[in-house]
Amino acid sequence: MDINKLVVGISPTKKLYLDDPYLRESRATVIVSKQEKKNVYVILDESIYHPKGGGQPTDLGLFKGDGFNITLKKVMEVRGVLVHFGKLYGRLPQAGEEIDCILDWKRRNLIMRLHTAGHVLDYALKEVYGRVVDTLGALHGPPTAFTEYQGMPPTPEQIEVIQKRANEIVEDRREVKFVYVSRDELMMAVKDAPNIDRLPKAEKYRLVVIEGVNAIPCMGTHVKNTIEIGPIDVRKVEKTEKGFKLYYAVKEF
Ligand SMILES: [Zn+2]
Repeated sequence: MDINKLVVGISPTKKLYLDDPYLRESRATVIVSKQEKKNVYVILDESIYHPKGGGQPTDLGLFKGDGFNITLKKVMEVRGVLVHFGKLYGRLPQAGEEIDCILDWKRRNLIMRLHTAGHVLDYALKEVYGRVVDTLGALHGPPTAFTEYQGMPPTPEQIEVIQKRANEIVEDRREVKFVYVSRDELMMAVKDAPNIDRLPKAEKYRLVVIEGVNAIPCMGTHVKNTIEIGPIDVRKVEKTEKGFKLYYAVKEF
């Protein structure tokens, strides 16, 4: 299936997780459904599922309707359109039909906690290095979470301080919120954000602000208070071609 063809002429999906990452269920209308053997591709008018990308692994979950169930295997984003791919049980839902969407919340909540921990670690690194450490990429797990940074890896002593500072911020119960800004406002507010050089051009940017800590342009899902992250454990540091990967974990509930 060429999913690039599937999204031709389709308006961008309304991404409900941007405004409310705690939304676990919704009712949405099918725009496109296409069966391929036992699997199906579904495009909805709006979605609670974050796609694979932007440093996050795909959300999973379930679609339910009269005479069918779909267990999601992957959500992809193509030109602003979310394409949900999963295994179909029963009949194929038709365009125009309303379906129930249920999010795999256990997985998503873990991703939200890991992702927010990533922002906290960015800050802890900045403190230890005395400057912003640019990021090259990230995967806020599961199964494993890491951020790749540019430059020299931290020493074992520095790693200890990074972990300690990160956990102090968690314990500080800092509020995590988001605001939308223009590119000019963005440049004034966060010209030293660790991912600023990797941002695609856009009219509006979403800034994720951890009060008193940092503001990072980001479209991912985060918890609303750092205390929800729980203890952050820096697992290992691995040297890469341009820098290093910092692997970390949070407790699984
Ligand atoms: Zn983020």
